[in-house]
Amino acid sequence: MSQIESVIVVGASAAGVSAVRTLRQEGFLGSIMLVDKDQHGAYERPPLSKQILMQADSTHHDIALINDDELTALNIEAHYGDGVRQLDPTTRRIILESGRELTADAIVLATGGEARRLPIEGADLPQILVLRHYEDALNLRQRLTADTRVAVIGGGFIGAETTASLSKSGAAVQWLDAAALPMAHLLPTELCEKIVASHCAQGVTLTPHCRLDKFIEQPDGSVSILFDDAKSIEVDVIVMGVGMAPSTPYLSDAISAELLNPVTGGIQVSDNQATKFAGVYAAGDVAAVSQVDGSTVRHEHWQSAQHQGERAAAAILNQELPVAPVDWFWSDQGDLHIEMAGKILPTKEHLVVRLEGEWPVYFSVVDNRVVGAVSVNNPNAVRAAMRMIKNDVNVEPSQLANPELPLRKLMRG
Ligand SMILES: Cc1cc2nc3c(=O)[nH]c(=O)nc-3n(C[C@H](O)[C@H](O)[C@H](O)COP(=O)(O)OP(=O)(O)OC[C@H]3O[C@@H](n4cnc5c(N)ncnc54)[C@H](O)[C@@H]3O)c2cc1C
Repeated sequence: MSQIESVIVVGASAAGVSAVRTLRQEGFLGSIMLVDKDQHGAYERPPLSKQILMQADSTHHDIALINDDELTALNIEAHYGDGVRQLDPTTRRIILESGRELTADAIVLATGGEARRLPIEGADLPQILVLRHYEDALNLRQRLTADTRVAVIGGGFIGAETTASLSKSGAAVQWLDAAALPMAHLLPTELCEKIVASHCAQGVTLTPHCRLDKFIEQPDGSVSILFDDAKSIEVDVIVMGVGMAPSTPYLSDAISAELLNPVTGGIQVSDNQATKFAGVYAAGDVAAVSQVDGSTVRHEHWQSAQHQGERAAAAILNQELPVAPVDWFWSDQGDLHIEMAGKILPTKEHLVVRLEGEWPVYFSVVDNRVVGAVSVNNPNAVRAAMRMIKNDVNVEPSQLANPELPLRKLMRG
């Protein structure tokens, strides 16, 4: 393609904002249009399940990703509160909900996803909320009073964070999970047990192995949750934290068939975030990225969205792609700050436990190489692991497990 003079970025969040910033930082002087259907513009999503729930006076201004002054300084034309209804990837033209049409030489699709709802009778009741947008968090926060009874459905990170934040704010929280133990599909079992025990000690009631049947609204406005064994509980608010689906309704059926990865539902991209349509890129939670082993993965965390935004910008400018960082993710659950890096292999044979302080650090080790790590309230341990992963250092599992040996010594191999 000849010289790129205009770029549209759809989605003003971690991936989209990182793309527009990188374009300007790298000297792009052409026009940049940043489009988001959310009237509140660009804000961080991680605080929605933490700060926004716990601090009654915090607003989207406190969690802004890029403010109006910076948009002006960077000469970025923001179109907020007007979503893309239709995309023609061959002409790189979008039609907004308002009917306005925009065209550019390159388009970055960074439209993230929407929270899923379980397909159960009553799941669309107004008392049943999800947590993906600022308005969702506000809606939940406004329903909380001293005696609000809340049920949180889902044992992933969003469910765990919401549970911890709500109980810390004084709500009576019932935590419902289909699995035997929340987060056990993500983290070592012993660590999950300890984290969940810590939440329960704060007053959370966990019900594992939940099989939900339906939700029934009661005359007083509360909701009964019926289980398939005919038991039931009654609450005032329900939060579903059961995952997200990539957001691509602006693609016609024919374009979806060409662009979407059938396994992950995300927009298939190659190594430089490019789709199969020239000049059209995708980044962040919505992008389906091919792995070296041939599989395709949609990453659903902040660091990866940010990095993919930078990558898309570099590709548009025809520059060398930034090196991928070691995968890193965090989760704040009440007073617990959990950090993870690399690939956590929870199988016993790969797990090395280091009894350092109140919370053990878990390393995943394969052939004397650290491939992943997780810590609670100990970010330095994960930083050290990231260095080990990046530098591919050879490390003896017994040394790693020995808290007398400083990790910084092992980082050098
Ligand atoms: C409650 C919550 C807590 C989280 N906590 C953590 C955490 O602790 N640590 C962590 O690493 N990650 C966390 N994440 C994940 C992280 O926030 C996401 O990975 C990240 O926001 C993805 O960024 P993105 O830019 O790809 O997409 P998104 O953040 O989903 O943004 C997509 C944007 O596109 C816009 N959009 C969608 N469709 C259209 C359309 N048709 N037209 C115009 N605009 C559109 C949306 O309004 C949205 O602003 C959390 C996510 C949530 C929801």
